[in-house]
Amino acid sequence: MSGERRGGEFELIDWIRRVGPAEPPDGVILGIGDDCAIVDLSSEGFALVTTDMLMDGRHFRLADDGAEAVGYKAMGVNISDVAAMAGVPRFAVVAVALPRAIAVETAQGLHKGLKRMADRFEVALVGGDTNAWDGPLVVSVTLLGDTSPFGAAPRSGAKPGDVVFVTGPLGGSLFRGRHLRPEPRVKEALILAEAASPSAMIDLSDGLSSDLGHILVESGGLGAELDADAIPIHPDAVDQSQADGISPLDHALHDGEDFELCLTVEPELAAKVMASPPAGVQLHRLGVIAAEPGIRLRAADGRTWAIEPKGFDHLAGGNP
Ligand code: ADP
Ligand code: MG
Repeated sequence: MSGERRGGEFELIDWIRRVGPAEPPDGVILGIGDDCAIVDLSSEGFALVTTDMLMDGRHFRLADDGAEAVGYKAMGVNISDVAAMAGVPRFAVVAVALPRAIAVETAQGLHKGLKRMADRFEVALVGGDTNAWDGPLVVSVTLLGDTSPFGAAPRSGAKPGDVVFVTGPLGGSLFRGRHLRPEPRVKEALILAEAASPSAMIDLSDGLSSDLGHILVESGGLGAELDADAIPIHPDAVDQSQADGISPLDHALHDGEDFELCLTVEPELAAKVMASPPAGVQLHRLGVIAAEPGIRLRAADGRTWAIEPKGFDHLAGGNP
């Protein structure tokens, strides 16, 4: 930020420092206040880096949701991306474009939400950039993480015959504002990485049909055969269905922002984890990866049909 509001910006950054930790968090050599932060990622493994931007009117509505909820979500979606690599989130920086008329209160609310989510996962907020303008709130978080000793789980490793799982019920995340309260599956991903060495993994941000579709494409153009009755349906999807007439199954397949993990596991390991499910993680078996491209559903009566990815695509104009 520059010009006449510079004073306000310094006060704000002072406030952010004051409400921050008294002692530097683990791995933070130099935190907020200098030109760069200095951090110490683990010496083993690799650094994970991810960034996600949220925009008023697209990913939230500031007037309805409030700045704190936006901050909570902005940090959560990034932590969820690190979880999807079976990584450990460590350090975050945040860039904000604040609506000028309500800049300071918005920044403070946002920061509270960012911090509340970051604290839950022991993520240190080590810096940021603060701007104000006559446009809507935009917030972008960049997160650094460590790979776990069990290795990173990319999207690209699925093979025909691998079993497809998700870690929780899906659909209807917009209905009661659950999309604002992601539950990043960090612990679950680490448990799964150790117990099941996922061949591919992704977090469900765009919707199962799209996100599983990403695994299938990245894994070389594969398909999946899913058991329709096995798709776990969130109660919000059932309630939303009553309001909008779209079936609970369609909500579960195509709604986004559940932030559960979708993973594929090679058959012997899948049999092992199903026989003795690891504690601390829900595992729903949806079906198997197939060589023939596309996602097909099978009903209990044997009827099968293909589904198209209908999840959110910003550049395709997608659903809101
Ligand atoms: P510079 O001009 O060198 O980029 P700034 O004046 O933008 O530095 O920021 C001063 C310090 O405050 C930096 O350490 C920066 O990382 C931190 N900072 C700025 N905005 C935020 C924010 N919204 N949240 C956390 N840290 C911030
Ligand atoms: Mg500088």
